[in-house]
Amino acid sequence: MRTDLVEPLCVAALNTPSSSASAQVFLRVLNDALFSGLGSADLLLPRVSLGEALPAPADRWLRSAGADLRVRHRVDRVSAVDGGWRVDDEQFEGVVLAASALESARIAASIAPNWSSVAAALPYAPIITVYMSSPDAVLPWPMLALIADQRRPAQFVFDRGQLGAPRGLMAFVISGADAWVDAGIEATVTATRDQAKQALGPWLRGSLTVTQVVTEKRAVPKERIRVDKETVTDEQQVSETLRKEEVEVEGEGRGER
Ligand SMILES: Cc1cc2nc3c(=O)[nH]c(=O)nc-3n(C[C@H](O)[C@H](O)[C@H](O)COP(=O)(O)OP(=O)(O)OC[C@H]3O[C@@H](n4cnc5c(N)ncnc54)[C@H](O)[C@@H]3O)c2cc1C
Repeated sequence: MRTDLVEPLCVAALNTPSSSASAQVFLRVLNDALFSGLGSADLLLPRVSLGEALPAPADRWLRSAGADLRVRHRVDRVSAVDGGWRVDDEQFEGVVLAASALESARIAASIAPNWSSVAAALPYAPIITVYMSSPDAVLPWPMLALIADQRRPAQFVFDRGQLGAPRGLMAFVISGADAWVDAGIEATVTATRDQAKQALGPWLRGSLTVTQVVTEKRAVPKERIRVDKETVTDEQQVSETLRKEEVEVEGEGRGER
């Protein structure tokens, strides 16, 4: 149960090994994913890039609805002014800050200092993806769980060849990869290749070539034990309209990771 269900689900959902993950957040994930009825957690594997699966359709829909979208436009500063907010040199009635936690912390530093310092201090867990190619290999399913431990880094392999990419291309995903980042790319690639040969031997055809390694050091905030649910409230009297923010940074209401 622990090896086959708890470990892989915990590291996949929380990007944190179960030995150090928050049990409260993990229970929330189990409840949402397994006990909340049909459709509460569907496994969907895109056949197109993530950009084409999510942001591109949203972009098209917003533009068709007349929205003014400015992509590749970096916001430098946000400040509160009478009746709204100033974003760089333009004024708006409302602002939704949805950059990364670190960048949002920078932008909000003078508006919401308490929230900003919590957001800036969030610890992150890295994710490494090792892409390998084996000519003509087809796995029995587009996604397989692997047994991972101190010698076998990857928890999942995706057969990208069945998902729109060239046949034989596979993506090995290493979540909660702190130890493998410390070990270095060479050690990680060697261990992942050994793991692939051992676990997928019957389906591999010919050579197994590493084509790309992507390390995202700030992939996902860790959901660790001993980080209590914390609600940070910052208030600033900027005009007659008092703007108030209340952001949950851990626990209830944020169990998606
Ligand atoms: C390898 C990997 C695997 C992952 N797997 C999963 C998974 O299986 N399940 C899951 O739920 N999550 C997963 N995640 C995490 C998930 O991708 C993030 O939680 C999610 O993308 C966060 O979305 P977001 O909109 O909050 O932020 P982001 O996607 O980071 O978007 C923030 C946007 O803000 C923009 N921006 C930043 N600064 C500024 C600025 N100053 N001005 C204007 N724009 C700015 C950025 O360009 C970016 O477009 C994974 C992440 C990685 C890296």
